[in-house]
Formats: sequence, structure tokens, C-alpha cells
Amino acid sequence: MMENRTFDMRQSVLVQNNSKKPSENIVIVAVDDASYEYILEKYGEWPIPRSIYVKLVDYIEKQNPEAIAFDLMFVKSLKSDQKSDIALVNAFKKYNNLYASMNFDNQDETLREPPILPLKLTVDVYNQSNKVDLSVNSYTNCRKILDGIINATSNIGITNVTRSDDGILRKLPLFLEYKGEYYPQLGLAVGLNHLRKSNIFHGRHFNIDFRSNLRLGNRSFYVDEDGSAILNWYGANESYKYIPLYKLIQIINGQVDGSDIDFKDKIVYFGTTAASLFDVKTVPVSRNFPGVEIQATFVNNLIDNNFIRKFDRSITVEIGLILALITILIVLSENSAFLGAIASMSVYMMYVFLTYFLMKYFNWWLDIVYPLILAIITFIGAYIIKYLIKSRDFELQYMLATTDGLTELYNHRYFQEQMKQMVDASKRYETQFSLIILDIDFFKKFNDTFGHQAGDAVLRQVAQTLKRNVRASDIVCRYGGEEMSIILANTDYETAISTAQKICTRVSSRQFKLPNGKETTVTISLGVSTYPKDGITSAELIEAADKHLYNAKNNGRNQVGL
Ligand code: GH3
Ligand code: MG
Ligand code: MG
Repeated sequence: MMENRTFDMRQSVLVQNNSKKPSENIVIVAVDDASYEYILEKYGEWPIPRSIYVKLVDYIEKQNPEAIAFDLMFVKSLKSDQKSDIALVNAFKKYNNLYASMNFDNQDETLREPPILPLKLTVDVYNQSNKVDLSVNSYTNCRKILDGIINATSNIGITNVTRSDDGILRKLPLFLEYKGEYYPQLGLAVGLNHLRKSNIFHGRHFNIDFRSNLRLGNRSFYVDEDGSAILNWYGANESYKYIPLYKLIQIINGQVDGSDIDFKDKIVYFGTTAASLFDVKTVPVSRNFPGVEIQATFVNNLIDNNFIRKFDRSITVEIGLILALITILIVLSENSAFLGAIASMSVYMMYVFLTYFLMKYFNWWLDIVYPLILAIITFIGAYIIKYLIKSRDFELQYMLATTDGLTELYNHRYFQEQMKQMVDASKRYETQFSLIILDIDFFKKFNDTFGHQAGDAVLRQVAQTLKRNVRASDIVCRYGGEEMSIILANTDYETAISTAQKICTRVSSRQFKLPNGKETTVTISLGVSTYPKDGITSAELIEAADKHLYNAKNNGRNQVGL
């Protein structure tokens, strides 16, 4: 539905810019408001006696028009005016460029028996396209016109139309199905006369090829999925030469001079435009568009070969993917979301302009809505992904900046930051916290004995032991070298001492695996300090813990210093 609206907008702009000229060879004899009033006054009723049409036809035929088509239906015979009907039928016999219209419907068969139509009115259609479905325009009953006309001519076109879901008429069906046979739409029948005269196409055999084109000799045009041709509009209203019916009647009656009206080689359409005769429809370029002018537009499209061509959904998808790709490139190369949005919007605008010019110069209808939705979703998605990657990057950077690569403990810098924060928080909330600093005993000798690789392995395993034996809220850091520290939030001195003792025991009792597969033991010495008992600044607390650690070393190592 939205895509249809974009089509209407493109067509409306083109029509406003007068970029398409309607054919000068099409003339409309219109039963307009003035003619309708004239007829009521002169003849007392609508429709006018059919003998008038016969006179008009005779008059026009003298000038050798290309065709005369009635977008009016000659239905039931008027008992009081049998002579008129006979004259009309004779006109259809006499002139082979005269066209009548008829209508199919789905009237209940018990109310009206579906008439049998002569075979000469049908056309052969070979549909090789797997997209075109002609059965959409299939009817079960027929509002038949005078038998005399049906038998006199095969120039009969069907005037049924199909509209989009929104009620707007954008296309006309080419063939209408009735009782298993196909009948041409009126405009097609009239237009074919032109192609025949121009030696482009003869005959009544039609082939819709596998690309959904109706082939007419070496010409072809696109047939939409429902077997219709999409119309290309020339003007919002009255774009063709209009002659009011009353004026033509006055001319044949000799009341006014008709020398200014030339019918030579013209396609003459009779139809109603009067508001009270209700033959108006909404089309892309106008709310009130007379049915006869829709017919004229179809014939004009057919003779100018400029029906609208719509592309396969797969091409729409491909265009959408190209736009999405461009969007991704923009998002990747442009850091600012705002500038990225402006750049992407510019690309989308350019695409919209492109579709406009393709319609203007090539009569192509390239979809706007689907590709743009795909591109815009890509734009939003790409920025979300970009943001997520960035924030993950940030987390990684933060992790690298705060942890020690060897032990995966927090590093010295993070330790110092946390100490300051802990001091501040404990001051504010008047709580305690403790610090444990520990050092591996005789580690220099260990390195000398087993090598640095073994030393590293032990460092990692000691770090692991520490993390396993403290609470999640405690912060375990590598203070430097083979010294580590633990900040214990909300922990008093006694609890910290017992934690330290527990860690001391766990380390000394653990078997440490060495890279060569052997196992060994190490011991650690620990010092504890508590805020505010041992100091009220980070430096004081570290110094106090260090002092206690020194005491542990002096006292024989593998213990908590006091
Ligand atoms: P103690 O603490 O018991 O007094 O003796 P110690 O041998 O451990 O004393 P010291 O602090 O003098 O020696 C620390 C040694 O730790 C020096 C260095 O070889 C070793 N060390 C420090 N950082 C690392 C490290 O990242 N990996 C390894 N393998 N060894 C380290
Ligand atoms: Mg040391
Ligand atoms: Mg040491």
C-alpha cells in the first residue's frame, strides 16, 4: 500500500511538471454536464436516441478517423425506437473501425441467465509467465449489449476495471475471462487497431512470455501479476482534446460550424464525464477521473509503448541489499551517528530521486519502500552493533588496565585506587576494613633452584589459592614481584587475622605443580592492618601491614606477623 502511494506521488509530480505529452490523435466526445443538460432539454431524457449516434458516426467517418469507440453501453432495445437500433447495428456493419463496449459481472444466474457470446469476440491467450494469473479477472455472467451489434462486429471490448485495495485505479486488465474464454479489454481492442494499421501487430493471438511481457510483434510491455497493464498518466484531468457532445450535435444539425474540429486519423472515444452520470474513478493523479479518459490513457500507453514496468521482487531485494551495504560502509567510516545519519539519508534521497528519473525516462517503477526500510533497519542495527563492539572494547581495555597479566589479579594501580576509595567510604560510613599483604618465602632461592618458569607457575597458583579463600567482595591484588595484597571490606582486625592464618595454612599445605610435572610446596608470610586502628590513610595502612609482614619474616616466616 505504501509503495503504491510512492508510485502515485511520482506520477503526480511528473504530471504536474507536464513531462509527458498525451497523444494528439486521441479525441474525446464527452457527455459532460453541459451536454447532459442540453440532452434533457432537447430530448427529455438520457440516453439520447441511438439514431443521433448513427448521425454522429456518419459525420465523423466522412473524415476518415482511425477508430470510433463507445465507452457507453448499448444495452436493451427500446421498443418505441426499434428503427434507431437497426440503424446503429447497420453502422457497426458498415464501419469496421467502430468499437462497442460490454461488461461482465458476477450476477446471480437465477436472476439472469449467462448469455452465450459468439466465438469471434474471443481472443487466444498463451500465458507462459508463472507470475501472471489471468484468473483474477474472471467473471461468471455478462451484461450483454444488443444482439444485432454482437453479431455485426467483432470489435467489442470489455470495460471492467480492477482497483487496488485502496480503491485507486492504477491499471487496466488486458483480458477478461468469461465461460473459459478470454475477451479483450476495450482499450486493448482499440489500440490493436492502431498497431495493425502501423503494421506492428496483427491477429488475435496473444503471448505473455515467461518474463511477464505481452508480446505484440517486436513490441512488448509488462503485464502485472493480475494480468493488468500499469497505466502511465499524462494529466490530472482533461488532458485530451475534449469535444462536448452537445456541440457535435449542433454541428451535425448545421447550427454551428464544425470546420475547426478535425477527426482525420483520430481515435475518437465517446464517454461520459458529467458528474451526475457517475463514471468517475480515483486514479494516482486525480480524485475524479472520467472512465473514458482512463480508456484513452490505456490506448495512449499502448500506441506510445510507455506502460509502466514493474520489477521482480528479487530486484527490489537486491537494491535493498546494495543500500544496506552502502549504509554499513557509511556507519563503519563515520564515527558520529549524526553525520552517519545525514550521509545515509542523503544516499536514500538520491535513491528516491533515481527512482523518479527512472520513471520519467524509462517508465520504470522501482520500489522505494522495501529497499529503504531494509536500509534504515540496517542503519539502526549497524549503529547498535558498533556501539556494542565499542563498549566491549572499552571493557577489554579496562580489564587490561586493571589486571595483572601473569596472575590475573588486580594490578598495583587498581590496588592503590581501591585503597583510597575504601578509606573514603569507611571514613564516611564509619566502618572498618582490613588489609593483608603477603610475600612468598625464599622466592629468590626458589627461582634459582627451579627456574623462573616454575616461579611464575607458583605465583599463579598462589594467586588462585588466595582468590579461593576470600569473599567475593574482597579485592585480591598483585602488589609487586612476589608480593600480593588483599583488601577486606567491612572486616575487623581479628577476622582479618584469622583469614590471613587460614590463607597461610592453605598455601603451606598445597602441592604446587611445576612445569616439569613435579610438585613442591611453598610458604608465605603475611602482615595485617585495619582501618582505623592501624592508620587512617592508605599509606599508613600499607606501612603497618608491611611492618607486620617484616615481623613475620623475622619470626621464622610461614606465619602471620603481629
Ligand atoms: P623472603 O621474601 O623470604 O625474604 O625471600 P625472597 O627470596 O622471596 O626475597 P626477595 O624479595 O629478595 O626476592 C623476591 C624474588 O621474587 C626476586 C625475584 O626473583 C622473584 N620474583 C619477583 N617477581 C617475579 C615474577 O614475576 N616471577 C618469578 N618467577 N619470580 C619473581
Ligand atoms: Mg619480596
Ligand atoms: Mg619473598
